[in-house]
Amino acid sequence: METPEEVKKSNFITEIIDADLAVGKNGGKVVTRFPPEPNGYLHIGHAKSICLNYGTALRYNGTFHLRFDDTNPTKEDTEYVESIMEDVKWLGADWKDKMFFASDYFDKMYECAEELIRRDKAYVCNLTEEEFKAYKGNLTEPGKESPNRNRPVEESLDLFRRMKAGEFEDGAYVLRAKIDMASPNMHMRDPAIYRIRHASHHRTGDKWCIYPLYDFAHCLEDSVEGITHSICTLEFEIHRPLYDWFLDALDMPCHPQQIEFARLNLNYTVMSKRKLLELVKENRVSGWDDPRMPTVSGLRRRGVTPEAIRDFCDRIGVTKFDGMSDIALLEYCIREDLNKRAARFMAVMDPLKVIIDNYPEGQVEYMDAINNPEDPEAGTRQVPFTKELWIEKSDFMEVPVNKFHRLAPGKEVRLRYAYFVTCTSVEKDAEGNVIAVHCTYDPATKGGNAPDGRKVKGTIHWVSAEKAVAAEARLYDRLFLVEDVGAIPEGEDYRNYLNPESLKTVTCYTEPALAAVEPGTKVQFERTGYFCADSKEHSAGKPVFNRTVQLKDSWQKIAAKN
Ligand code: ATP
Ligand code: MG
Repeated sequence: METPEEVKKSNFITEIIDADLAVGKNGGKVVTRFPPEPNGYLHIGHAKSICLNYGTALRYNGTFHLRFDDTNPTKEDTEYVESIMEDVKWLGADWKDKMFFASDYFDKMYECAEELIRRDKAYVCNLTEEEFKAYKGNLTEPGKESPNRNRPVEESLDLFRRMKAGEFEDGAYVLRAKIDMASPNMHMRDPAIYRIRHASHHRTGDKWCIYPLYDFAHCLEDSVEGITHSICTLEFEIHRPLYDWFLDALDMPCHPQQIEFARLNLNYTVMSKRKLLELVKENRVSGWDDPRMPTVSGLRRRGVTPEAIRDFCDRIGVTKFDGMSDIALLEYCIREDLNKRAARFMAVMDPLKVIIDNYPEGQVEYMDAINNPEDPEAGTRQVPFTKELWIEKSDFMEVPVNKFHRLAPGKEVRLRYAYFVTCTSVEKDAEGNVIAVHCTYDPATKGGNAPDGRKVKGTIHWVSAEKAVAAEARLYDRLFLVEDVGAIPEGEDYRNYLNPESLKTVTCYTEPALAAVEPGTKVQFERTGYFCADSKEHSAGKPVFNRTVQLKDSWQKIAAKN
């Protein structure tokens, strides 16, 4: 991120930080973090958080930490750690040597828990899970104090140590903070802070059989690392008093400020890790990096660039109000970015044979084609032209409708970068379908311009039938049929709303040069869309292109310039 827009733009978070700096808080330092739990792959919502945290650190010449919040051994895995590192790096956020794991602080957290007991601010409780819930009360009724609440400090300490030593079964005891069972904030009603869980952790192995809960762990992780501004999503606003309570109760020397912002929601997709995991596990997609997924790895495989994602995150901005962002805006950002960097090629998605009757049999001419009109440095390439060509079926009409300016009997069009051709007749099969179109070409129009100045209204793309390469094109569409997957009524399965046509695979014919591109190469198929050579399956022998996004530029405008 050389010049991230986030760095330049102010928002309510930068206002808070400016005010802190003005009064000399935190010794003038700004330290932010991105704290993923390694229990899934990152999605575009996480990208938003990464851009925000990293961009904020950059803006203030501060420090950015990547911290794995790996306090729940049963759902976490090193596969996820690795994918997260790859994705954060790819997005352009540089954590330098500041990569941490919450599990590295388990000793420290344990000490803090003992200290809370010693200060009579925590106690070991043996209520069952149901009792625990019943005692908690609800939004209208205060909770009831646990009979264990006044357990002597020494007894709680002893029990807690024995929890750690593995003497008890899962669930036999929990350590709870002693706060206020009547608090209107449910999170303050003596929340659990440590639980017994006999499970191997992906980093600490079997060293621990007790694990800290999120609210207790998170503020300590932030504090230990010297985070100044702990930026999180709005649902944690109600947890903030607890965050502050722990740090105060322990007199932690560093007390970060938690600031909440609205999470990113995107229509026609899901952002829930649980649902994304289900889609993967049930093979409803090909994996976390399926190009239909809203994951960073899926978007990357689809052909989206980090620049486009950062631009999108910047345009939606940082707010305090939950809302739904439009996938059309993301698509716009993708087009804007790829327009500048993608080389153009011709590819025919739905082929119809054209035979140029007056073109010499066996002749091949190489036509000069511009690689990228947006980038003069990109130069030109040579595209082979022969007697038999493929054009799009949709570029021909035997009986043209009004304003149809492409190929039709008796009509002349420009074949892009090649010649003017006029349709003379059609060939049909037994059912009357047009299977080939015969044309004549005007040799004087080579390159696509007539010396006599005559104009044609239509310009169409083509490939040489003899020289073209057949490629698999994967045409992606929205993953879900409904805009707000979260609004699907309870009791109805969100999976019933998956778009059955989110992937269509077709064989297309492309310029031969396309087979040779490296996996991951981003191109534009003229008039069709932006595509990306699949990073896993594309090869010169078996070209595979993923459609990143359809084209919406007006082809008419481009054609008019020629
Ligand atoms: P869960 O906690 O349910 O597993 P999560 O999406 O919150 O899922 P985390 O790994 O905890 O996953 O998220 C890491 C960070 O990314 C958190 O700080 C979280 O606030 C932020 N984040 C997660 N989802 C979004 C989103 N949709 N928009 C913005 N930030 C998000
Ligand atoms: Mg979370």
